[in-house]
Amino acid sequence: MTTPTIRELLAERRQPTLSLEFYPPRTPAGFDLLRRSIERMRPVQPEFVTCTYGAGGTTREFSFAAWELLAEMGFTPVVAHLTCVGASRDDLAAQIHRIHASGIRNIMALRGDPPRGETTFTPAPDGLAYAADLVALIKSLHPDICCGVAGYPETHPEAASPADDLRHLKAKLDAGADFVNTQLFFDNAVFYRFVEDARAAGITAPILPGLMPVASPAQLERAIGYSRATVPPALREAVGHPDPDTARDAGLQWMAAQICDLIANDVPGIHLYILNSDRTVLDPRLAACLAQWRGAPLSTNHTERPDP
Ligand SMILES: Cc1cc2nc3c(=O)[nH]c(=O)nc-3n(C[C@H](O)[C@H](O)[C@H](O)COP(=O)(O)OP(=O)(O)OC[C@H]3O[C@@H](n4cnc5c(N)ncnc54)[C@H](O)[C@@H]3O)c2cc1C
Repeated sequence: MTTPTIRELLAERRQPTLSLEFYPPRTPAGFDLLRRSIERMRPVQPEFVTCTYGAGGTTREFSFAAWELLAEMGFTPVVAHLTCVGASRDDLAAQIHRIHASGIRNIMALRGDPPRGETTFTPAPDGLAYAADLVALIKSLHPDICCGVAGYPETHPEAASPADDLRHLKAKLDAGADFVNTQLFFDNAVFYRFVEDARAAGITAPILPGLMPVASPAQLERAIGYSRATVPPALREAVGHPDPDTARDAGLQWMAAQICDLIANDVPGIHLYILNSDRTVLDPRLAACLAQWRGAPLSTNHTERPDP
């Protein structure tokens, strides 16, 4: 049995969707923790969940196991992330067929990052160079798969210019992608400008803002490291508070305010990078913000048999 596509969910939406991003644990104990975390998060009822992809060997198997666990526990539809890293076109085709055979109908199509310490991405022999090529491959093999792609409100670090990056984003949509999920950002003005520029560049697909709470200066630095997100001075000061609980509260408060403002500005959905932690979505501040926006839980798909 298959679940709805994100394209369908967004088209039918009466309210903005809530989606949660997970990553695959690497040990049996990690999977137990994830299972318990999902159990506690059940009342939140996200409209869909996504789970990242680690390229190669066993890491790849952890992704498949995590997608299966999420589906088994009723967190559906699952959006499976897939990257071009270290894979030939044939390897990728095999992964796409396997994902499709498991009942999943949503893939986040990504290029992936260069290996640590390198600044340029080199495709595997007979591999794909850009996410747009992966979108085209997925759509050619299984046109019923809905594809999400990454968007960068503060420009991808390897792009020559914001305009170039937007042209490349449009190429992913022209290849058949259905929606955009953004890199995290801390300043909503940056997101609104990005959406305006994307629309001016002819991008009409839904753009889902991605948000992550930060609880400490170290976490903030890590997030800036891979996102290059601008940090408003007030946020930096607040999460730098010497009391860890106060700092964590400030980070959550900041994200809750971002969400309320985004909802008021009619975004199609909110995507939360929760790093497998139920603490974020169950935090009373966030719960209050979610209740205000969603009222009674919206989803009905959690009562259905999950895929696969
Ligand atoms: C929502 C989200 C989820 C993610 N999930 C994962 C994950 O699960 N696993 C993982 O490993 N990584 C993940 N990433 C990180 C992602 O793999 C990296 O950001 C990667 O560096 C770029 O991937 P992309 O799909 O955006 O690449 P692309 O869209 O291919 O773009 C990469 C760079 O190439 C440029 N470019 C694109 N097309 C062309 C062209 N034709 N000519 C010249 N330049 C071009 C772009 O402007 C950009 O600078 C995620 C990122 C986001 C935002």
